[in-house]
Amino acid sequence: MPGLAAKMEPRPDHGEDSYVGSGKLEGRKALITGGDSGIGRAAAIAFAREGADVAIAYLPEEQSDADEVMELIRQEGRKAVGLAGDVKDQSWCNEMVKQALADLGGLDILVVNAARQQYRETLEDVSTYDFDDTMKTNLYALHWIAKMATPHMPPGASVITTASIQAYEPSPILLDYATTKAGIVAYTKALAKQLIEKGIRVNAVAPGPVWTVLQPSGGQPDEKVRQFGKDSDFGRPAQPAELAPIYVLLASQDGSYLNGEVFGVTGGKGIA
Ligand code: NAD
Repeated sequence: MPGLAAKMEPRPDHGEDSYVGSGKLEGRKALITGGDSGIGRAAAIAFAREGADVAIAYLPEEQSDADEVMELIRQEGRKAVGLAGDVKDQSWCNEMVKQALADLGGLDILVVNAARQQYRETLEDVSTYDFDDTMKTNLYALHWIAKMATPHMPPGASVITTASIQAYEPSPILLDYATTKAGIVAYTKALAKQLIEKGIRVNAVAPGPVWTVLQPSGGQPDEKVRQFGKDSDFGRPAQPAELAPIYVLLASQDGSYLNGEVFGVTGGKGIA
């Protein structure tokens, strides 16, 4: 059945070339944490194609694609800023926001997307260090960054968080991660109610399986990738680029009536 085979195959690239912008974010300035990889990378490139200047924040690691992502942003004629540091560190979160504000000349769109995820089989395997690390990277950093950035964001601005289907269907082997994602959903909804008075909207995206760190770009899909997405209606994980339009919707005027919402992108599983 050729139809089914096509449904199963993730494209063997980032899939981002398919995104065509139409000026929806012209002149806007965006900061995206985790912007060098996966979903954050796809959002960064889509934002640039829509006319935004983009600062990407990322962990300074040898295998980071930050330079490539910044080059792709520049190819769109937009300003690209790279901010390397660890969001577990509150002083870095503060510095990162300050630098983004200075280098971009303001901030209209904040995407808090960086995360740590580690599989741990049993409760005993989740060390206090692990728990603390995951809380800081995924949840505290959101608070620190939002607190630092949002007072500088103008009416019409947008904050987007990346939650997960794990907030709704926590896996036993992702105990700490799933807990942070449920926290992100609650935080997003509460912050949305506060900031709407200032004209700032706050929403979350809750992805299901997305083909990111599990499969390096350019490779052929292997059994691991198929297994990862087998429960979706498509029999495969999403490409990061398939999430980018949701981030653009939430960031742009098209999302002007969206606040405190959580958008599941789960390939049909849905979020409760
Ligand atoms: P990814 O591994 O491709 O990217 C993770 C990014 O986070 C990297 O850019 C990395 O630099 C950054 N990061 C990690 N720890 C950091 C730290 N301590 N300080 C600064 N930056 C740090 O992952 P992805 O799959 O694109 O994930 C993006 C978001 O999507 C995450 O919030 C993740 O929880 C969420 N998500 C992913 C999936 C999936 O299946 N891939 C599913 C649901 C939710």
